[in-house]
Formats: sequence, C-alpha cells, structure tokens
Amino acid sequence: MRKIALALAATLLAQAFCLPLQQTSAAVQDERGTVAADIADSEAFFQTALRVQTPARDYTQRIESLLARMTLEEKVGQMTQLEIGMVTTGQDQNIRIDPAKLEKAIVRYGVGSILNVKDQALPVSRWHEIIRQIQEAAQRTRLKIPVIYGIDSIHGANYVQGATLFPQEIGMAASWNPALMQRAAEITAAETRAAGIPWSFSPVLDLGRQPAWPRFWETFGEDPYLAQVMGAAFVRGLEGSDVSSPRQVAASLKHYMGYSFPLSGRDRTPAWIPENYLREYFLPSFAAGVKAGARTIMVNSAEINGVPGHVNRHILTDILHGELGFQGFVVSDWEDIKKLVTQWKVAANERDATRMSVMAGIDMSMVPSDYSFSDHLVALVKDNQVPMARIDEAVRRILRVKFELGLFENALPNPALAASIGTPEARQVSLQAARESMTLLKNENNLLPLSKNRKVLVSGPTADSLISLNNGWTYVWQGSEPSLYPKDRPTIRQAIEAKVGRGNVNYVPGTRITRPAGSPSNSTPTSMDEEVDIAAAAAAARDSDVVVLCLGEGSYTETPGNINDLTLAEPQLRLAEAIQATGKPVVLVLVEGRPRVISRIADKMQGILLAYNPGNEGGTAVADVLFGDYNPSGKLPFTYPRTPNGLLTYDHKLFETEDTPFGNSAFSPQFRFGHGLSYTTFAYSDLRLDRKTVPSNGEVSISVTVRNTGQRAGKEVVHLFLRDVVASLAPPGKRLKRFAKVYLEPGQSRTLSFRLKREDLSFIGADNKPTVEPGDFDVMVGGLTDKFTLQ
Ligand code: BGC
Repeated sequence: MRKIALALAATLLAQAFCLPLQQTSAAVQDERGTVAADIADSEAFFQTALRVQTPARDYTQRIESLLARMTLEEKVGQMTQLEIGMVTTGQDQNIRIDPAKLEKAIVRYGVGSILNVKDQALPVSRWHEIIRQIQEAAQRTRLKIPVIYGIDSIHGANYVQGATLFPQEIGMAASWNPALMQRAAEITAAETRAAGIPWSFSPVLDLGRQPAWPRFWETFGEDPYLAQVMGAAFVRGLEGSDVSSPRQVAASLKHYMGYSFPLSGRDRTPAWIPENYLREYFLPSFAAGVKAGARTIMVNSAEINGVPGHVNRHILTDILHGELGFQGFVVSDWEDIKKLVTQWKVAANERDATRMSVMAGIDMSMVPSDYSFSDHLVALVKDNQVPMARIDEAVRRILRVKFELGLFENALPNPALAASIGTPEARQVSLQAARESMTLLKNENNLLPLSKNRKVLVSGPTADSLISLNNGWTYVWQGSEPSLYPKDRPTIRQAIEAKVGRGNVNYVPGTRITRPAGSPSNSTPTSMDEEVDIAAAAAAARDSDVVVLCLGEGSYTETPGNINDLTLAEPQLRLAEAIQATGKPVVLVLVEGRPRVISRIADKMQGILLAYNPGNEGGTAVADVLFGDYNPSGKLPFTYPRTPNGLLTYDHKLFETEDTPFGNSAFSPQFRFGHGLSYTTFAYSDLRLDRKTVPSNGEVSISVTVRNTGQRAGKEVVHLFLRDVVASLAPPGKRLKRFAKVYLEPGQSRTLSFRLKREDLSFIGADNKPTVEPGDFDVMVGGLTDKFTLQ
C-alpha cells in the first residue's frame, strides 16, 4: 500500500513539474526490481547454484532394510507411474477419488507414483482431498511406502488454481537474470508443495535450436551456457538446500536428451546428432542440472540417430550415471515404452519394449493408463530376462528420493499452506520477470516510449488474450480454456486502457485465432488464424495517432503445435500491411512462443517489441514498456530468422556469414542473438586482458567498463564471446562464455571482470572428449575485441 502511495505521489509530482516520469525514485526502484538488481558475473552465480547439497541424512540403511522386505510385485509397483484418471472418476472440476480404482492402483498393485491433472487446474482444497486419499491408501499397504505425486509445474504451479504464473522459460532466458529465475522457481516450488505435490516435471533443459519445434518456448533458447546457468538456477530454486522442506519440490530435468532438435521441426520426430555435437551442445545443460542436485530426470520421447531415447543405454546409463554421477531416478515420458512398439518399431511387443527400456536405465515408467508395465516387468523378472539387481537398483533410487523429500515422515498435504499460494509478493516477482523479459527489437527514430496522451489503436489477435500471453501448460495442457484464466489480470489491451485512459484507446482486432471445438488430440492443431475485419482495423488506424499491433500465436505445446511454415499466419500479415498502408506509425508487439517469420512486414514497423509468453502479468509489462514506465533490458536468447529456411544459430561457422561470390549472404537474421534495445544507451570501453600469452592451464582475466551514457537508469546485459581461431574441428565463429546483467544510473559506469579457465577454452573433439588446443583466441565484448594466445 505504502509503495503504491509513494509511486502515486511521485507520478503527481513528476507531472506537476513536467519531469520525465522515469526519473522519479519510485520508478527507479521498479526499474531495479526487488530481486537481485545485479548479476555481475554469470559464472559466480552459476558456481554457487551448482554447489551440491549433501543430503542432511544418509538413508542407506532404511532403504536397504525396506528393500530386503519387499516382494517383486511391490518393487515393480514402485517403478510404476499412473495418471490421475486411474484413481479418479469424473471430469474437469468434478473429479473425485474413485475408491475401487484407488484400491486397485495403490493397494493391489502398490503403484509408487501418480501424475498430473485429469483435465484442468484444481483448487488447492481439491488437491488436498485427492492427495490425502492417495497417501492414506498407501498407508494401508503392507510396507506403507508413500506415493510420490508428480506434476508439470512449467511456469509456476500452473495446475493449481490461483497460483502465480511466470513467463515461460524462453522469456526467463531473455531476462538474462538467473537470480530472478531462481526466485521464480522457489515460488513455483512453494506453491506446488502447498498443494501437497512434492515433485515437478521441470525444468526443460533441451536447447531451442530448431525454431519450428512446438516446444521451443519451453527452452532457455539456443545457447548451452545460458541454458546451464538458468537451468541450475531453476533446479536450485525448486529443490533449495533441503528438499524435504514444505516449500521445496524435487526437480525433473527433461527431456534427456536431444529431443529439441528434430530434423523436421515437428514434435517427437527423429534427430540426427553425432555424439561430439550432442556433448558439445545438448549435454551441458543436463550436466549442470545434475550437478545442481536434481533428483530426477525425464527421457527424450523421440529418437537420435535411430535410437529411441527410451532404449538408449549409452545416454541413460553410461553417460548419466557413469559420467555425470547422477544419483536420482530416471522417469520415462508419457506412454513411451508402448511407443517403442507402436511408433518406433524397435520392439515387436510391449514385453520386449519393457525389458529393453528397463535394461537401458528407465527406473520408473509413466505408463500411464493401464497395468501393462507392472504385469510385464514381473513376468520378465520371473523369466530371468531382467535381473533382480536391476530392479533393486531402480527401487533404491526411487526410495531415496521419497526419503529425501520427507514423504516417509509426512506425505499428507498441510491445509495451512493453502494461504501461501498466489501472494502479492509472488505476483510482484512475476511482474518483474515479465518486465525484464521484454525485448525491444526495433525503435526507429525513438518512437518509443509512446506519449500517454495520444490516440492509440490497439489491434491484432493477441492484444486481448491471456491465452497468448501464457501459452501451453496453463490451467490445461494446451492452455486453451479461456474460462479458467483469472478475471483480474489485464490483457495488453486492458493494460493500455488502464494506463492512458479508455478514451484514448480504440480496439479493433482485425483477425482472430480460433480453436477447433473439443479438446485437441495429437492430430488437431490447437488454433487457426482467420480474418475478422481487416478493413475496419485499417479505418480505425487512420483515426489514431499510433497503432499498437499485437500479433503472434495462440497456445499450443507438443504435437498439436506442429506447423508447416514458420512464417507468421497470412491473415496477420495482411492485417499488418493494411494498417501500414495508412502511413500511421506502428509498433509491433509479438506475443509468440517461437520466432514466426515477419520479414514481409518488419521493415515498415517503427517499433518491434518481443514479449514471448510473459504470463499473467505480461499485459502490464508490455504496457509499462510501451509507455516508458519501464526501461526494457531483455535480450534475445536465440537468433530471430528472417526466412523460414534461414535457421542458423549465432554460433555458426565464420564463413557462413560472408557474402558468397554469388551475392547471397548465408547468415542474415532478422535480429541477432543477444540483441535488445534500451531507452538509454550504454558505451563499452577498456577491454583488458591480464595476459596476452596464457599458460596451458588456461587462466585469463578479462575486464571491461560499461557506462550508461543516456538519460535514464537501465540494466545492461554484457556478453563475453570467445572465438577459437583455428581448431582441429572447424570452429564456430564465436561462443558465449560469460554474461553479466548490471543496473546503471545515468552517467554511472562499472568495470566488470570475468575469469576464464581451461575448460572454457575447450571443445568436444572428434573423439568425443574435451579438447584444448594451443593457439589464438579472440575475445569479443560489446563491440570491443582483443586476443590472447594459449601456450
Ligand atoms: C511431455 C512431458 C510431460 C509429460 C507429463 C509428456 O507428454 O512430453 O514434458 O512432463 O507429458 O505431462
């Protein structure tokens, strides 16, 4: 309350004296944000997040004594995970425990884990009722082993009504603020556990290097280092230093690994990734998540090099346990053992598929809708096709996580925790995250920030949609049920109306994104674009001073989000062209989960703001940036393509940038990785290396000074890139090695220093091993370059 009053007073004062609003202290406070204003060195943060937490207690004895008493059937039960519909009846909000089903699953089959929602997010009281009955059933079993309930808390506790929702991972990546990621994950953990659920299927640590992939937005973007730092922050936030605490949950790194890079761009389709590139690009984020202490990991639903993720022993066992030292358990993805038969055809029948996947390293099967896994596995052990030692190994891992979560002490939901869901403080963190993710891609002639007393036309299909602001994994799988969204969170249109007054805003959608009736199956897309009234929108533009045109996508994830063309939908392009033809200045706001190609309309936009999927506070954040109440600092965590086939990432080979003799430049993206404008300006100077000849241990310190040379306070993201000039494997033009995010007042400067180590100079060689080769390295920071020679 006090803060609001202060802000109000500051606004009035500023208006009275015609001061630019942004220079009042209240605004400055907002600009800093309440969570960590500064990450002066990504690596320092990273190393802290990685510090492995030793479990407070050693449960080996309890695990072994329990295991010694378990029957084969009880052990296999622990390895079985069923979906909630296997113990409930009813639909939507009317879902209830079905006592007969519950008895069969938990008591007769001894099922060790249940997952997810049946249809949609439930109120916390309903969760408590359901979880309590499940755990009470577990208490009726011979050994009283508690059930571990797991759920997709992807961007907040999105299956708990009233929970705080954050920007999706791609937006969190654009904030380049791992402290904010960690805080968001802490809140996610607390709000998930408050519902009685101790396990989240997050974070996604696949890399977003294939923009057409419908889960692109679930990733931290294309760079392995950024994904490592953000991923470690996510895990640390979920698990904390004591995962048994009523505010923490076990994490599940997913989808291990290579899932995100399908050749076709379509979900759950083949990838070809040679092992050295797998290790160079796709493994590091998982390795970081394991190091940060993640208790569980979920498997790639697709295949790499012809080997489906679920039978890949090399990845699931040799690399994961052998090399990374992972101590937790491996859970399959949805129905994926069955798909070894029905889809991938590497097994002739489900029994073979069960044997192959368990022997490859699957500890728990997300079956999830029948008892086939349990039945097959029991038979396989009896026939000596799966050794008991393998079963014991899996059960040990599962029991350890249950012990560490404190479930043996108390697995019942705590009614008192209900009040901790959706607090004002959590909402403030979500708003800060949404604001810090906003990425200003273009601002011709400083059109932005817009003045608050001109007539604005708000148009486009994402202008009035909380669904677009959130995307999938929001209240329902596809995020597509409007009735479940909160009524008190503004869309972009509503937030603009609140900011500049309804009288100054005209809203004409022009086109809309519709959805086919019924819930999406794997073959129906979740949304389609169609014209509403483009001519009316253009006419309204003529009557306005400026147009805020909100384009992008509806909501989707997984297979229903597949597309055949990365280009923005045709009706939206036509709407943009009709509005541009009026000659009015247009600011394009993109609300989208992947970079839809906009080259046909981009050049004639005066401003372009990329909002990603910023969550329920996203409308406010967009309006704050458009009208100057917040100075944007987001930077692209991926390369924004100009054409559907121009899909090179920033770390392509150097020659790919150069013009060929035929005049076509291979690399010419719409916007570059790391790009993002501010309302102030920053200057870089004094790039210094502590040595030009670096000993073979690789230690070199690099410093640079950044100065705010503009008129208002802001945050700058500093990127340190390195180029290995000559290497035995054709080297990328550059790789990100460090970053920092610093807050600077006008005129203020700061000198940042980064220390590189030998492993930062390495790459995965043709022998699949880290390789360091002597020679020259170029250092690039904010337009400055220097070099050193490694001895
Ligand atoms: C998705 C996973 C998710 C699981 C459970 C699968 O279809 O690939 O990311 O955790 O469903 O909902």
